[in-house]
Amino acid sequence: MQIITCPYCGAGCRAYVKKELSHPFIIEYVTDINVPNDRGKLCPKGNAMFEYLLSKERLKTPLKAIERGKFVKISWKEAINEIASFIRGYMKDDPNRLMFIAGGKVSNESAYLFQKLARNIGTNNVDNTSHLCHGVSVRAILDANFERNWATYDDIEESNVIILWGANLAETAPLIFRRVLKAKNRSAKIIVIDPRKTKTTKFASIHVRPFPGTDIVLINALINLLLKRRNIKSAHFKASDLEIISKNTPEYAERITGVPVRDIEEIAREIGLARRGIILWGSGIAMHSNGYDVIRSIITLASIVDFKVLPLAGQNNSQGVMDMGVVPNFLPGYRTYDNVYIFREAWKNEELPTEVGLDIPKSIKEAQKRNVSAFYVMGANIALSFPEAEKALRRAEFVIVQDIFPTQTTELADIVLPAAAFLESNGSTTNAERRIQWSSRVKWPPGDAKPDWAILCELGNALGLRGFDFYFPEEILREISTLVPQYANANPRTLMRTPEGVMWNIVPDSQPTKVYVSNKMPLLEPPVMITVRYVGQFQTGTMTKRSPPLNIRWQDLLILVSEEDAQKWGIKDGDRVKLVSENGKYIGTVKVSKTVIPGTIKAPWHEGVNRIMGLKIDEKTGLPQLKACSCKLERVE
Ligand code: SF4
Repeated sequence: MQIITCPYCGAGCRAYVKKELSHPFIIEYVTDINVPNDRGKLCPKGNAMFEYLLSKERLKTPLKAIERGKFVKISWKEAINEIASFIRGYMKDDPNRLMFIAGGKVSNESAYLFQKLARNIGTNNVDNTSHLCHGVSVRAILDANFERNWATYDDIEESNVIILWGANLAETAPLIFRRVLKAKNRSAKIIVIDPRKTKTTKFASIHVRPFPGTDIVLINALINLLLKRRNIKSAHFKASDLEIISKNTPEYAERITGVPVRDIEEIAREIGLARRGIILWGSGIAMHSNGYDVIRSIITLASIVDFKVLPLAGQNNSQGVMDMGVVPNFLPGYRTYDNVYIFREAWKNEELPTEVGLDIPKSIKEAQKRNVSAFYVMGANIALSFPEAEKALRRAEFVIVQDIFPTQTTELADIVLPAAAFLESNGSTTNAERRIQWSSRVKWPPGDAKPDWAILCELGNALGLRGFDFYFPEEILREISTLVPQYANANPRTLMRTPEGVMWNIVPDSQPTKVYVSNKMPLLEPPVMITVRYVGQFQTGTMTKRSPPLNIRWQDLLILVSEEDAQKWGIKDGDRVKLVSENGKYIGTVKVSKTVIPGTIKAPWHEGVNRIMGLKIDEKTGLPQLKACSCKLERVE
C-alpha cells in the first residue's frame, strides 16, 4: 500500500492506494496517522482522483506542429534537439526574450528544476500561475514579518472565532472546511465575509456581504472600532495610517460596502472577545488588483488582536512552486538577488542573472510588443485561464508546452511534450499549511510520456548546462533541502519515512510585525461579474472534465443572477446570455438565484470567463484585476 497526496486543491489531503487485479487503484482512507485531511476522508474530487489517469485522451508522444494546431509525432530525441537548438539561439542573442511559466500542480522537484533551467539559460523570466493568487498572500505575510502567526490546520480547530474572508471553503477545500465545522461544534463563532451566498455561508454565525472590491473599507472600519475598544497601542501606526483609519468609520463603511453598521460592530465585538482567533482567506481576496493591499490590511487587523492567518492555496502545490523560486523576483527559498552568490556557487555558474524578470502578465504584454518571443509552459493551460495569453502565444516565434492532455494551450504550441501526471512519478508537494509531503508513483506514465523533472534534465543536458544529471527525484529534493532553508528538514530520507510530512523549517524572527494600512480599491461599476468555483471542477477542467464521475455531475456550469436583476433584464432560467466587457464576451446559460446580490453576476471560472477581464495591470500594485470586472449582460437570441 502506498501513500499519496490528492492532486487537486492545496489542502494536501492524503490517501492510501491499494492495487488489486480487479481494479488498479483502490483508495483507502488514512486513519492511523495525523494527516491534513483529519480522519482521512476525501471530497468528491479526491475520491475520483484516479479517473482522469484512465482517460484515452492523454498525450503519449512528443508532437511537432506542421501548421497551427496540426501536429505530427516525433521522437524524444528530435523534440529535445529542436528545443535545444532554439534555446541556444536565444542564449546567444538575448535570453530575456524567453518566458518560462509553470502551473501550480507540478512537484517541488520539477518546479525547482524549471527555474534552475531558466536561470542557467540566463533569464529570471520565470513565473507560476499561482503567483497572482496564493503568491500574493505569501508575499504579504513575509513582507509583514507575520510568519510566526501563519496557521496550521490544527489552529482552526483550536480557535473560538474563525473568519472566512472571500473563501467558499465548503466547495473549494471541503476537507479544510471540516475542521471549521469541528470548531463550530465546539461553539466557535464562524464569521463569513463574502458577497455571495454559498454552501459555506449556510454554516455562518454571522454572514456579511460587502460589494465586490470594497473589502478594504470593511477591514479599516474593524480596525477603527478595535483600536477604540481594546485600547490597543497605536504606536506602530504612522500618522497617515491613523488618518485613513479614522475616516473609515462604520457609517462610512456601510455606505461603501453595503454592510450594515450593526453587523460591523458585532464582528468587531466578536473579534475583541475572542480567546483565540484565525482569519482564512481565498482567491476572492487575493485576485483583485488591490489584493496585496487587502491582505496586508487583514494581517494588520490580525496583528492587533493576535489572530492567526491562513491563506488558502488553490492548487496542490501552489505553495511549493513559490517556495522553489518559480517567480521572477526571488530565488528559491524567497532569497533576494543579493544572495545570488549562494546559487552561483551551488550551481557552478558565475553568470546567473540578477535583474528581476517578467511575471506572467508583463510577459503577455511584452509578447504583444514582440519583446518576448518564446514561451515554455509546463503544466498550465494559460490560453484559457489568462486574459490575453492566447494572443501572446499566437504572436510568439516559438512555443513549447509540456502537459498531460491536449488543451487550448497545446493547440498553440510548436512542440508539445507529453508529461507524466502527478501520480505517475515520485515527488513532493507542499500544502497550504506548509506541510511538505512525499507522494509515491502508483502507475507508470502512458506511452512515451515522462515526468516533468526527467524532461527538464534531458533538456538541461542537451544545452550543456551543469547540474541536470539527476536520475531520481529524491536526488533533486536532496539539493533543495540544502539550498532552501524552509526545506532543511525535508531531506528525502526523512520525508519518505514520515508519511505525515514535515512542516516548513521556520527560522525564528524577532522582528515586529509591520503594520500596513491602505484605502486602495478597484473601481467596479455594477453589474459586476465575479468568478466562482465548483466543488467537482478544478481550474480549467483539464483533469476534472476527463473524470466521468465529476464531469457528469458538474457539467452545467451556469451564470447566476439575482431575482431583481433578472426581472430588470427580462431574463429567466435557461436563457442563453452573453457577458460583454470591453475585452470580450462569454456565453452561458442563466439561472436566477437568491444567492446573488443585486448588481452582481456569478460566473463559473472553469471555462475561460476570466478572459473577458482583460489584463489591465494596476500601476501601483503591479497586479491585474482577475476576480471581478464590470460587464453588460445581453440575451442571446
Ligand atoms: S479537499 Fe482538496 S486536497 Fe482534499 S480531497 Fe478535496 S480536492 Fe483533494
